[in-house]
Amino acid sequence: VSSAQRAASLRLADAAARLRSGQSAWLTPGVASLRDWIEREHAARVQAGSSLPPLLAREHEWLLWHRAAAQIADEHALASPAALADRLRRAARLAADHAIAARRIAADPGREARCLAQASAFVEREAGSCGAMPQHALLAAAPVLERERGLARAAAAISGHCEPPVRVGHGPLPEGIVTWMAAAGWSAAPAGVVGSDALPLPEASAEPRVCTARDPGDELERAAEWAATRLERDRTARLLVVVPDLHADRARVERVFGQRLDAAGWGARPQGDATFVIEGGEPIGRHKELAVALDLLALLLRPVPAATLVALLQDFALGGASASTRARWATRVAAHGLDPVSCEALLRVIDESAGREAGASGAAIDAVRAARACLTPARAPLLRRVAEFDAALGALGALAGEAPDSATYQRRRAWHELLAACGRASAGVGPCGAADALALVRALAERQPFAPASGDVGVTITAEFEDPTVGYDAIRVCGLRAERWPQPVSVDPFVPWYLQRDAGVQPASAAGRLAQARRQLAQWRARTGELVLSWPESEDDARLVPSPLLARFRAEDSRRAALPLALRIAAAAPATLEVLEDGRGRAWPASQAPRGGASVLDRQNQCPFRAYAQSRLAARSEPPPEPGIDPTDRGAWLHRVLARLWGELGGSARLAALDEREARSLVQRVVDDVFRDLDAVTDDATALRQLQRERRRTVAAAVALLRRERDRAPFEVVARERAARLALAPIELQLQLDRVDRLADGGLVVLDYKSGAPQQPDWDGPRPEPLQLFVYEAALAAEGSAPVVGLALVHVQPAQARFVLRAGVAGVLPRSRPDPQWSGRLERTRAHVAALAQAFAAGDARVDPRSGACRYCELTSLCRRVERGLQTDRDDEPGAGESIEGDVDDAR
Ligand code: SF4
Repeated sequence: VSSAQRAASLRLADAAARLRSGQSAWLTPGVASLRDWIEREHAARVQAGSSLPPLLAREHEWLLWHRAAAQIADEHALASPAALADRLRRAARLAADHAIAARRIAADPGREARCLAQASAFVEREAGSCGAMPQHALLAAAPVLERERGLARAAAAISGHCEPPVRVGHGPLPEGIVTWMAAAGWSAAPAGVVGSDALPLPEASAEPRVCTARDPGDELERAAEWAATRLERDRTARLLVVVPDLHADRARVERVFGQRLDAAGWGARPQGDATFVIEGGEPIGRHKELAVALDLLALLLRPVPAATLVALLQDFALGGASASTRARWATRVAAHGLDPVSCEALLRVIDESAGREAGASGAAIDAVRAARACLTPARAPLLRRVAEFDAALGALGALAGEAPDSATYQRRRAWHELLAACGRASAGVGPCGAADALALVRALAERQPFAPASGDVGVTITAEFEDPTVGYDAIRVCGLRAERWPQPVSVDPFVPWYLQRDAGVQPASAAGRLAQARRQLAQWRARTGELVLSWPESEDDARLVPSPLLARFRAEDSRRAALPLALRIAAAAPATLEVLEDGRGRAWPASQAPRGGASVLDRQNQCPFRAYAQSRLAARSEPPPEPGIDPTDRGAWLHRVLARLWGELGGSARLAALDEREARSLVQRVVDDVFRDLDAVTDDATALRQLQRERRRTVAAAVALLRRERDRAPFEVVARERAARLALAPIELQLQLDRVDRLADGGLVVLDYKSGAPQQPDWDGPRPEPLQLFVYEAALAAEGSAPVVGLALVHVQPAQARFVLRAGVAGVLPRSRPDPQWSGRLERTRAHVAALAQAFAAGDARVDPRSGACRYCELTSLCRRVERGLQTDRDDEPGAGESIEGDVDDAR
């Protein structure tokens, strides 16, 4: 079958079909993914005395690709060797699967092809020195394979008992695998398709129904609703839901299906199995218990961010300490302002509290010391390193004790198998430091998917468009919009495109993708009697269109199901419901200054409910992790550089005295000073490379800003990163102004740096946005400073710096025009700022968004604006928040 997940499905379906027909089921039927099966057969031959070299262990091979990628990344100054290693390995496998000769790749003059050829040669050479063969070279060995009894047995095992609803098959096989199978004398095509596009599919049975959804979130809710309704009708039903964005949106999928299916009580399957399962699992390193173990090891080796330590203390009973004791330790860490936090610092904090909680503190300190003693400082083979990690975790009491359930037991076993595999791969790495070894283990844990064995679940959720392999009572496929299905063409950048085209790599051509999509449709239809195909009508601001392949099927009227849950309940309720308008929360305590500076009022301005939820209830979502530099760090570093830079320049006079080259060398020196401190914090090679790139980016951005500032009327920088207070009874805001300039006539210009692209402000409406600069102006006015004559958002980017400016006088920038209503505008905004402060302090929490505020707000489900009928066209209006193109000086 096409994947390990489908193999598991087939085992289950086979057992269910056999039991239903009164036969006994195989305990361990030999069903495998094609690649696993080939590897297994290869290993059997080697064991039987074949002249073939054994295959390299997967982990060992991964480490070799990692080393090859690190060399290439060094040569080409690339930032992320880990990502490169994965891409190169995938490209080598693609070339092998499609019988694309290595010499043809090496002959291509392109840089990517040369990188692949270089890395493949390295891996093969290193594997050869261990007397083994890398996985991608396996198929090239096909001609020397002979037909053996093992193959015949495997063929029989797969093709033997595939009665409906169980069927076997997968899509067209890559050329390399077909050659391999032909050489092995195996070309059976049981109920499915093996070997060629030309072989017929099983006859299509389901007539698809097409339905739409408002957006991807709504589409997911409908899918969960559909599954619940189907299970309500038949508790033994087996359903398949295909969600293409599953990996990016896993948490939401789990939440939506969990809420709908478990809340509805469908959790009780006849055999007590889970209601739904997400196929393929997730990387083992992301499972909570193991993520904690990896973070504990990191803490033993080097300082970790304070947020990591706080999470560790929350999740792990260090030394058996109670949750309240650990919370006190975390509070002390914060009170000392420790970030990052080293192991020694943590021990000191625990020691300080020993008076009150002597027993718990002593046990924690002993455990940490014992764990650290397990880690030797000298370089050592990976095999020894993983043994040390195991011992250190044992000393801490992590992953110890009896597993509370089967899933935990399986997870721990998978973890120990991973460590053992790392140990076996020692030869690929050589002696290494503990931190490097941990980085390797962590990287492997990030790539090793794990899902505990599941029973006969009701709903299987998958991201795979491939053949479901087994029959389902119903199948629902989501996300079939035009640009996603047929899937977009995807050409591997490391294998020359013409070689992929000649080899018939389907994803590399539009015709191949279309053929794939048609085959997928035929396979879905063949595997069920009920097929639902759905697509979302919009996503964010974009209107979507359905895949053209849906045009010939019957569209379903789905308006009723589109109603939000609350409206459906209201519609079903027999009597009128009582309505409670609850737009006021608790008042802000007058003795406490709100945290967040001007953003407190900015949120109140956007939507009182949002301000209350975020400032009072801490309703914040974590930004999704992104590779590379965190935008918050980028902004903070840029601010630091610009503050120092203007500290040296002082104003336009000194800037004018420098030529372009001198200005650049000044910038370079300042940036080097700032980044020197940052470089010292890490010795991770990837992080250092990213810092190097960021350093170059920051230099370019600062130079671009200086170039732009040369055009300005004379000014003196009178404040940088200046603290200010704004008392607006009953609250007082603590502010930090990026920069204040004084012009020749004494007027002040307040500037705020932004590292992103400029967006259209709305400074003329009744709820001006962004509000921040007006809050700063109000603070300066309250201090009795010189009059503010201009407010500017300064967008500092490497390509160019752009000012979004509003000023009361002419000439602040060459093209800026004076605002004729300047003083009236400032008076109005000061009154607006004061009113917002009062509303915030009084606990105003009405759901009253300003135009466009909901577009990027993640609180929709909390504020229930949709149920309240607040989803209006005004969210789609252009205006504030739109990107501004061009060289902006003045925004109207
Ligand atoms: S989604 Fe809109 S109405 Fe709801 S909290 Fe956010 S801004 Fe306010």
